[in-house]
Amino acid sequence: MFRVPRGTRDFLPEQAERFRSLENLAADLARRYGYGELRTPIFEYTELFERGVGESTDIVEKEMYTFTDRGERSLTLRPEGTAPVVRAFVEHKLYTGPMPAKYYYFGPMFRYEKPQAGRFRQLWQFGVELFGAPGPRADVEVIALGWHYFRELGVESRLVLNSIGCVQCRIGYKEALVSFLTGRDMCRDCCSRLERNPLRVLDCKNDGCRAALESAPVITDYLCPPCREHFDQVKAGLAGLNIPFTVDPLLVRGLDYYNRTTFEYKTDALGSQDALGGGGRYDGLVELLGGPGTPAVGLALGIDRIEMLNPPALDTGGGRRGVWLVTMEPAAAEAIALAHELRRKGVPVQYDLLARGVKAQFKQADRHRCRWALVIGPDELESGRAVLRDMESGDQQQLNLATVADELAALEGVK
Ligand code: AMP
Repeated sequence: MFRVPRGTRDFLPEQAERFRSLENLAADLARRYGYGELRTPIFEYTELFERGVGESTDIVEKEMYTFTDRGERSLTLRPEGTAPVVRAFVEHKLYTGPMPAKYYYFGPMFRYEKPQAGRFRQLWQFGVELFGAPGPRADVEVIALGWHYFRELGVESRLVLNSIGCVQCRIGYKEALVSFLTGRDMCRDCCSRLERNPLRVLDCKNDGCRAALESAPVITDYLCPPCREHFDQVKAGLAGLNIPFTVDPLLVRGLDYYNRTTFEYKTDALGSQDALGGGGRYDGLVELLGGPGTPAVGLALGIDRIEMLNPPALDTGGGRRGVWLVTMEPAAAEAIALAHELRRKGVPVQYDLLARGVKAQFKQADRHRCRWALVIGPDELESGRAVLRDMESGDQQQLNLATVADELAALEGVK
């Protein structure tokens, strides 16, 4: 018996449709905000992520699906969407176009993580990236877009915000942090992080490390005046849009490329996997990946977790839909031709493919949860009129076959 690989899932039609709705809503929202879709390959050269995500991040150190292809190239299934978008931005010289340049993506990412509720090895993200705008309004627009998505879906989330400053601010902060943490009781990972990438200690989940951090210096006390001003304006911009947030100076996020603003949307409904999405500013990444210095800010939302929250906006009520065309010989061929014509006109129609009797066909109409059953036999073709049964109420009405497509299209529950 074959099974899906660990940490991956099949989406059966009902759930697949929910994912499709989540994607459609994301695409529609992105369009309203002026973002164009950018589709990049599912795999990239490994160096892109090593460089673009950061060698000492969990993603690059432990979580990548990396393989060598038949041409001896090292490729990696994309673990995140920002580095590929930046690669495309540079490769296609999109920086020569009008600024800011705004893109969105929606698709699967791959991370070799320990699977658990809300944590998968193939996960889905909706993300946006905004290039070419250094000011706080860009941060606010991106954060607001994510917030807007949750609002439209009817999902509760909390926005948590921080600023991790610029390289200059972090020099002073890192020194203070390292001297505060040196000699404290922390996990093995954090002891080595302290030397290589001390900010990473801030998002360790280990109890000992969290305790050690309790009275540690906070980055927001080390911001240089321009970074402080930027942060203040982001907060003011969000307040101006009535978007509530809290500041958490421990929020540094797991990737190396952020500067200034970092943020996360959290939920209280999913236990320890409480992050629904997040993002931040990454002004140095375009240059790091070979393009001209270009400020940028973006976000990624975790679609799997959002779907787990049963967004009210996706609730279809499990209602009946479409039409079952009940056929009978010798008129079945003509009825089938009519079914195809109706489908071309946009009406969802099913009919019997197993030579069942009329009674059995009604039963199938019910089992396939059709809203309507339309009976087409020789008499109906002859008279040009047919009986339509409402499968919910059992009510029947006569339809004119000459205008049946329009009449059906006007009925509730057909689409
Ligand atoms: P990140 O940029 O890593 O913070 O990812 C953005 C969002 O994607 C997270 O807030 C999660 O909602 C989601 N996410 C990340 N990793 C996984 C995973 N392994 N399984 C499911 N969702 C994930």
